[in-house]
Amino acid sequence: MTTDTPDPLHIDTSKAHPARVYDWLLGGKDNYPIDEAVGEKLPPEAHDAARQNREFMHRAAAWLATQGIDQFLDIGTGIPTEPNLHQVVQGILPTAKVVYTDNDPIVLRHAEALLVSHPEGATDYIQADARRPGEIIEHARRMLDFERPIALSLIALMHFIPDDEDAYGIVRSLLAALPSGSHLVLSHAASDLYPELAEQVTAEYAKGGIRLGFRTRPGVARFFDGLELVDPGLVTATEWFKSPPAPPSEGSGIYTAVARVP
Ligand code: SAH
Repeated sequence: MTTDTPDPLHIDTSKAHPARVYDWLLGGKDNYPIDEAVGEKLPPEAHDAARQNREFMHRAAAWLATQGIDQFLDIGTGIPTEPNLHQVVQGILPTAKVVYTDNDPIVLRHAEALLVSHPEGATDYIQADARRPGEIIEHARRMLDFERPIALSLIALMHFIPDDEDAYGIVRSLLAALPSGSHLVLSHAASDLYPELAEQVTAEYAKGGIRLGFRTRPGVARFFDGLELVDPGLVTATEWFKSPPAPPSEGSGIYTAVARVP
């Protein structure tokens, strides 16, 4: 490897990384003191948000699988945390195929856990940046059949991609590659539900060198332009088909929705 080629396995422990701060919030062990330093400055609600987000992913993935969706393209996968998406969907449809993508070397280093598929299904991992959607689609075509519905899952990803990095254009080009009957499943931190907490979280991540772009409800709704939202629509993480329902005291600062590509 030449010195001007970035080593895809190089773990930079001098700087906090989103995947590792999130792992810390979930109580994981795949993080470093620099990540913990960001995490421990966050309000306690950040732990709840990470858990609620993960639980939404489990419910939405299971719902999609029960609709017969057996192909998933998951971008911004994060460090493996059981159950991972493929374990949820293959528990319902063992033949399901899941392509995972993240741009953080630490996820690549742990990708083996994502590659242990049910023997009847398949999983793959692509080290790629969501800001280059064309590359991701090209790779994903090796495993997924783009003539049949695919669920595109962008779970807690898009708030790391601010407007000036063409967030909406990225999602549009990913969706443009998917056939009718495909679905978008997305969760996104809100700037307008608990504005003070959102500002505090954004400021603490910024101190750690991580840019966040939380969005308002209309800002999140825009990702679904041209799609058909499925019930219960664009709601908070704890409102999306949680059974039994969350107690009224358990608020959530995460918007979530699932929508169908017409
Ligand atoms: N989807 C998982 C993890 C969310 S944490 C879950 O909800 O449980 C956000 C993840 O997005 C991190 O792993 C981070 O590395 C990844 N990410 C952030 N920006 C990215 C980009 N531009 N391209 C690909 N992945 C990105």
